[in-house]
Amino acid sequence: MAHDASNQSLMQRDLGVLWHPCTQMKDHETVPPVPIRRGEGVWLEDFDGKRYLDAISSWWVNLFGHANLDINRALVEQMSTLEHVILAGFTHEPAVELAERLVRITPPALTRCFYADNGSSAVEVALKMSYHYWRNQGQKGKTRFITLANSYHGETLGALAVGNVPLYKETYEPLLMDTLSVASPDCYQREPGESWAACSRRLFADMRRTLERHAGEVCAVIVEPLVQCAGNMRMYDPVYLRLLREACDEFGVHLIADEIAVGFGRTGTLFACEQAGISPDLMCLSKGLTGGYLPLSVTLSTENIYQAFYDDYQNLTAFLHSHSYTGNPLGCRAALATLDIFQRDDVITANKALARRMAGATAHFGEHPHVAEVRQTGMILAIEMVRDKASRTPFPWQERRGRRAYLHALRKGVLLRPLGDVIYFMPPYVINEEEILLMADAAWEGIQLATRD
Ligand code: PMP
Repeated sequence: MAHDASNQSLMQRDLGVLWHPCTQMKDHETVPPVPIRRGEGVWLEDFDGKRYLDAISSWWVNLFGHANLDINRALVEQMSTLEHVILAGFTHEPAVELAERLVRITPPALTRCFYADNGSSAVEVALKMSYHYWRNQGQKGKTRFITLANSYHGETLGALAVGNVPLYKETYEPLLMDTLSVASPDCYQREPGESWAACSRRLFADMRRTLERHAGEVCAVIVEPLVQCAGNMRMYDPVYLRLLREACDEFGVHLIADEIAVGFGRTGTLFACEQAGISPDLMCLSKGLTGGYLPLSVTLSTENIYQAFYDDYQNLTAFLHSHSYTGNPLGCRAALATLDIFQRDDVITANKALARRMAGATAHFGEHPHVAEVRQTGMILAIEMVRDKASRTPFPWQERRGRRAYLHALRKGVLLRPLGDVIYFMPPYVINEEEILLMADAAWEGIQLATRD
C-alpha cells in the first residue's frame, strides 16, 4: 500500500501503532509527534520543510551533527564488509581497534572493555561485575550499592534501582533491589556565599558516614560525574569525586563512573573524571560513543577486576553476561569515526569557545524574576525556572510550565526538551554562533511565556 509522505499521514499512522518512550500517549491527542524526514548538522526537517534545531542532541547522543558525512562514509564501508558477527569466540577489527583506543583515552587504570548495546545495559554490566568481583574474592557479604540522591542510571530494573529520580523509580519500587542512598553533592543546594567546592565538600559528609557504616556490605558506589543529567541537570564540583575516590580506596569499595551522558566532551573535558584527576574502577560509556548513530555501550574495568575473573573454567569465575548485539561492528565503526573527528578537529579546544558563546547568549537569563539559577558545566547549560525566586519555591509540577516552553520553542523551530521546569542546552558540537543565539532566543521567549500568570 502506498502512503503519501506528509506530516499528517505519518502522525496518523504513528498514533495507530506506536507507543512512544517516556510519554503519556494521551498528550498526543493535542500535540502529535513531530514527523522528521531528514537531518543535517544541528537541524531536523519535517515533511513540510519546517526545520528544528536539535538543542538536546536527540537525547544527548549526537555529537557532530545529523547525517555527518565522515561517519556516513565509515558506515557505508563497514556495512559492505561486515555488518555483524557474534563476539563470543569470534572477534573483528572495529571491536579491537575501538577497545584499544578507548583504553588509551580513558583514565589510566582502565584497561579492559566489555561491550553491550545501550546505556542501561552498560550499568547492569558494571553492577554485576562489581558484585561478582567481590564474590570471586570470597567476599560474599558485599551485595549492596551506594547511590546519590537525584541520580539516574537507566530504566532496566538494576539501573533503575541505583537511580533516584522518583518520577521514574517510585512506581517500580517493589520490583527493585534495595540500595543505600546518600545526599547529592548538587550545588543548587549551596548556602548563601558558599562556593561550589565548599558545598560539594560539605555534602560529602553523608557519603563518608555511609561508607564508614556499610562498607562491609557494599560492592560499589555509582555516580554520574559532575552533572546529574536526568536529575534536572544538577551540577557539582570535581572535589567531590576526589574525596570519593580516596574514600572508596580507604573502605575497599569500587567506584563506578557512569559517563554515559557526560562523556565525550559534554563537560568540557573528554571525560568528566579528568577534571577531578581520578580513575574509577568501572566506567560506563554510551550515547556519544557512536556520535549519536547507533546503539552501543561499553563498560571499562581495571586490570585488577578483570584478573579476578580469569581462571580455569572449572572454577566457575567467568563473567557469563552477553547481549546478542554485543560489540556490533557498525556501532564500533561509527565510534571509531567519531574518535577520528575528535582528534582531527581538536574538538575539546574548539568547544571552549562554544561554551563561552552559550554563556554569553544566556547572560541575562539570571535576571528573570522566575529564573532561580543559570548553571553551566562545559557544553551543558541549564536554566531553572521557579515560582518564587527568593525562596526557590518551584511551580506546582501539575502546571507543566516546562512543557509550555517546549511547545513555544517548537513553534519557533527549536527542539528543547525541558526536564520538568529546567530548560537546558546540550547541542551537537557543530552548532554555530547564530544557531546558539536562535536557541537562546527561543528559550528566553519560552521562559517568558511559561512563567506568565
Ligand atoms: N546513565 C545515564 C547517566 C544516562 O543519562 C542514561 C540515559 N539518559 C543512561 C544511563 C541510560 O542509557 P540508555 O538510555 O541508553 O539505556
